Amino acid sequence: MFCPQCHDGELVKRRNKKNGQTFYGCSTYPACKFAVASLDRLKPTVVEPAVSMPSVAESNQGELIAAIRELTDAIRALATTKEPT
Ligand SMILES: [Zn+2]
Repeated sequence: MFCPQCHDGELVKRRNKKNGQTFYGCSTYPACKFAVASLDRLKPTVVEPAVSMPSVAESNQGELIAAIRELTDAIRALATTKEPT
């Protein structure tokens, strides 16, 4: 799945060398420093505030919404794979 920040790299699973915790970071790091502890956490942070963000220029809103939609689909696909049923 593509990075929601730069739309260029992909989110890859990485491991924090200090505490051993895994997280998802952008494959273009250090060019893009996007990182998230869990892909599940992208759901509330991306879908809700981004859409209602008043400071986003109207011209960028389409791109943003498309990115959110792409991300939501990816999360949904991921959630489906996780489900045992
Ligand atoms: Zn990125």
